[in-house]
Amino acid sequence: MVHAYRMLVERLLKEDLNFPIHLGVTEAGNGDEGRIKSAIGIGTLLKEGIGDTIRVSLTEDPEHEIPVAKKIVEYANPESLFFESIDPFEYNKRKTKQFFNIGRDNSPVVISENSNENSDLYFDRSNQTLVSKNYQIKIGGLKDDFDGVLVSACTFMNDVEEIKDLANDRLIVLEAGLNDDLRTIKECFSECIKQEILCPIILKLNYKDLNADDLLFKASIDLGSLLVDGLVDGVWIQSEDDHNSSELAFKILQASGSRITETEFIACPSCGRTLYNIQDAFAKVKEATAHLKGLKIAVMGCVVNGPGEMADADYGYVGAGKCKVNLYKNRDLVRKGVHEDEAIQALIDLIKENGDWQDLPTN
Ligand code: SF4
Repeated sequence: MVHAYRMLVERLLKEDLNFPIHLGVTEAGNGDEGRIKSAIGIGTLLKEGIGDTIRVSLTEDPEHEIPVAKKIVEYANPESLFFESIDPFEYNKRKTKQFFNIGRDNSPVVISENSNENSDLYFDRSNQTLVSKNYQIKIGGLKDDFDGVLVSACTFMNDVEEIKDLANDRLIVLEAGLNDDLRTIKECFSECIKQEILCPIILKLNYKDLNADDLLFKASIDLGSLLVDGLVDGVWIQSEDDHNSSELAFKILQASGSRITETEFIACPSCGRTLYNIQDAFAKVKEATAHLKGLKIAVMGCVVNGPGEMADADYGYVGAGKCKVNLYKNRDLVRKGVHEDEAIQALIDLIKENGDWQDLPTN
């Protein structure tokens, strides 16, 4: 979505056309996932100065959409975010060396401050060390001789000559806080590309003063903007202790397509064409299938546009009139007119028949 809108704007500018542009992420789903997808898609573009009207579409009661839209606008004040070294029109992961399982072609890792959280590494504060199951990385400043180098985004450009001299088998932890603008952070990545600095970069964002709701929008917009351009090798969100920031990091990675760790859902917003209780059905589909990592499942309101709008999903659950559902495998209609009381089980059976089912772990 982000790349498509950027292309549209470029073409309009070339043709000297100045139409206002409407932004929306269709079928974003519900809950945190729907909010994060909307914040990444709409927020990234608004921050770049693209977009004149927006609509947030959630598979929830429509009155829930406006507060989300307002939060996105609040955190998406435009900045100058285009750099020659970063292609705005297609996804390219920044070239780096590999440091253990960080960087190069690996999906971004997640760091937590708490060893109890489900993350790839946690920060052992007393030893200033990142700890994973298989390795440890001691972190220090530029002058220290440790594998991990911590540098703040606001001083990065002043230290860039020293950073250039770092061996490429070091890991950079780039630290930014609430007062750092996104341009400053993105410029650090741009400079790395220009100067051929190949160290993987973990982005450490300090959002300690935000409540959980604001944290979700601020982190989604800041990180999403960088992730859609393939710039980040690891995500470390610092927040108040009672926010599960690594869970949020995984959700942002999933929503931006950077790392898939759970089932991907597409679901229609409330829409006049829907003749069944889609909110209820979506909640049940999610409950039954959320553990099927790597699958994309669509829950659509109508057969008029649903099959087209969910064209890249693995399985589709599509409203087909009052209380009736059609089931799809990819683009093929495989079960027609299933009563909605039986449709969840029929979807599970279909996933099993195609060998994509996994039982939930028992512990
Ligand atoms: S037209 Fe159909 S597919 Fe599109 S949002 Fe409405 S119910 Fe969903």
